[in-house]
Amino acid sequence: MKIQIDKNGYYGESCLSSDRFGGAFIPEMMHENIKELQDNYMEIIEGPSFIKEYKSLLKDYVGRPSPLFYAESLSMHYETNIYLKREDLNHTGSHKINNTIGQILLAEKLGKKRIIAETGAGQHGVATATVCALKNMECVIYMGEEDVQRQASNVARIKMLGGKVIPVTSGNKTLKDATNEALRDWIFNPIDTHYIIGSVVGPHPYPDMVTRFQSVISEEMKLQLIEKTGKPNPGYILACIGGGSNAAGIFYHYLNDENVKLIAAEGGGKGVETNEHAATISKGKTGILHASKSLLMQTEDGQIIEPYSISAGLDYPGVGPLHAYLNKIKRASYISVTDQEALVAAFRLTQLEGIIPALESAHALALLEKLEFKPNDIVVINLSGRGDKDLNTYLKHVKDE
Ligand SMILES: *Cc1c(COP(=O)(O)O)cnc(C)c1O
Repeated sequence: MKIQIDKNGYYGESCLSSDRFGGAFIPEMMHENIKELQDNYMEIIEGPSFIKEYKSLLKDYVGRPSPLFYAESLSMHYETNIYLKREDLNHTGSHKINNTIGQILLAEKLGKKRIIAETGAGQHGVATATVCALKNMECVIYMGEEDVQRQASNVARIKMLGGKVIPVTSGNKTLKDATNEALRDWIFNPIDTHYIIGSVVGPHPYPDMVTRFQSVISEEMKLQLIEKTGKPNPGYILACIGGGSNAAGIFYHYLNDENVKLIAAEGGGKGVETNEHAATISKGKTGILHASKSLLMQTEDGQIIEPYSISAGLDYPGVGPLHAYLNKIKRASYISVTDQEALVAAFRLTQLEGIIPALESAHALALLEKLEFKPNDIVVINLSGRGDKDLNTYLKHVKDE
C-alpha cells in the first residue's frame, strides 16, 4: 500500500472525489504563495544543506533524539510492555518545535524575512516565536481574543521572544478565526512572508510537509526499538490527535507495516453524545476548511461547529487529510476519549512514573484503558508534550482523584 499524496496533494487513489482528502482549495489571490511552496518544498527539504542544518538544530537546539522510555510501573499495571516516546523533553515542551525548525529553515531558503502563524493554546505560537528569535526573523502571531485571555502565560512568552501577538476578534475569537486571519495576512504579503502552519492541516503542501518534519519521531523510534527489543516494530502505536501532526509523525514510518496497529485518541470532551467534544473523525462529515478537504465538525448546512475539549491543543474543528484517509481505508483507528478519562490517565502516569503529561498526551494514555494487550505485546505511546502548561487545570481536579 502506498500512502502518499498525489501531485495535487490528495490522499487516496480513487478518482471518486468522496474518497479523497486534501488538495488546495485556495482563493485566486493566494495562488502565488502556495504555488511557490508547492513547486519548491520537496527540492529544498531533501537538499543536503537543508538536511544538515535541520538535523544539527534538532540535535543541539531541540535535544533530539527524544528518548524512548520503558515505563516499568505502567507496564506492570497494564500487564504488557509500554514505551513512551518522550517528545515532552524537547525544547519548548512538545513536538511542535520539530515542525517550526523545519519551516523556518525553509523560509530562509525561500528568502523570506517575515513569519506569521496562528495559535490556539499558544503552544505553536511559542514554538514559532522561538525559531524566529533563533533566526532573527520578524514574527507575527494571530490568536483569538478569547485565547489571548485564557493563555496569558504563553502570550507573555511569545512577547518576551520578540513576537507580536495580534488578537483576533472575528467569529468565536478562537483558533479557527486566528487561522482565517493568518491566511488573510498572507494574501496581502505574498513576497516577504512565510506562513508557518502548526499541524498537518491547511492547503497542499502543508499536510505533507508538516508530516515529513514530524516523521523524525518514527524514524528515531525504529532504531530505538531495535536497540531495546531487537525488533523495529511494536504491536501498537498510540497518539492523541488535534490537527494530527504528532500522530502523523509517529505513524509515518510504519504506515506500510500493516502488522503495527495505529490508534489515535480524539478529544471526546464531555462525551460524543453531547455537543461538547472535538471528535472530528467519529462525528465529522466531509467538507472544506482552511483550504483543505477533510472531515469537519459541521451543521447540516455546513456551518462549522465550535469544538470543545478540556485540552486546548485538541479543539480544532477539522483534522488533517491524512487521518481522514487512514480512517477511510481503516489503516488507523480513531477512538474518542473524554475529559474525565484523560484526567484519570494523567494522574496515573504522574503517580506511577513521575511524569506529568500534557493534557493532550493524556488522551493517548487513556487509550490503555480501552484496549486489550497481551503480556508480550509492545506498545509505544507518543508523549507529545509536558504538563506544566496544564497545572491549573490539574490542580482543580486534584481533590477528585
Ligand atoms: C498542539 C498539541 C497537540 C495537538 O496537535 P497535533 O497536531 O494533533 O499533534 C498534541 N499535544 C501537544 C502537547 C500539543 O501541544
